[in-house]
Amino acid sequence: MKKITILLLVLIGCSCLFSCAVQPPKETGEFYTTHLVELTKLDSSIHLDIRYATSNNLVGKPVYKEARAFLQQPAAEALVRINAKLHQKGYGLLVFDGYRPWSVTKLFWDNTSAENKKFVANPAKGSRHNRGCAVDLSLYNLATGKEVTMTGVYDEMSERSYPNYTGGTTEQRQLRDLLRQYMEADGFAVYEYEWWHFDFKDWQHYRIGNIPFSRIK
Ligand SMILES: [Zn+2]
Repeated sequence: MKKITILLLVLIGCSCLFSCAVQPPKETGEFYTTHLVELTKLDSSIHLDIRYATSNNLVGKPVYKEARAFLQQPAAEALVRINAKLHQKGYGLLVFDGYRPWSVTKLFWDNTSAENKKFVANPAKGSRHNRGCAVDLSLYNLATGKEVTMTGVYDEMSERSYPNYTGGTTEQRQLRDLLRQYMEADGFAVYEYEWWHFDFKDWQHYRIGNIPFSRIK
């Protein structure tokens, strides 16, 4: 009898260790209610290039089944305002990624070398993308519909990605700084290693999410 109990405990322990390793970290405390909003439903002039739904990304294979982008409602509404202001300058927002299920953050972490870990979030803490409060984006030219050229490309793991990188052309730096200026004027802050990544000011008030796009209501 004793042996069976011990065996059962060992089995339960093993399955917990296994499942705990692939679950988001447990969070305690008060959080705002998650309300993820699809960006293009709010404003169809926000363009998408969802690289993670293609093979053109850092893991070389699609990690999303659907090319869609979501943010928590206040962040999404701020993005709509920023997009409208940029139209007056001849540009629109081109979004690469918004809310990202935690399982995808874990996949990126596991597939990134130690020296490049600063470009990906640690799944033990979760990403601000997991909270629906971070967005990766660039600009497109309103007249041509084409993506502008920045100092570096999206998800590039080099110093060209730093928002304070002094290389590139004057025009590239001006466009990068224009995006940052407009984003930071309405509640977003740029990430120190990525010109395209912005965190919304209230990110800490939202929980880490792990549901796929297909289950967002
Ligand atoms: Zn990002």
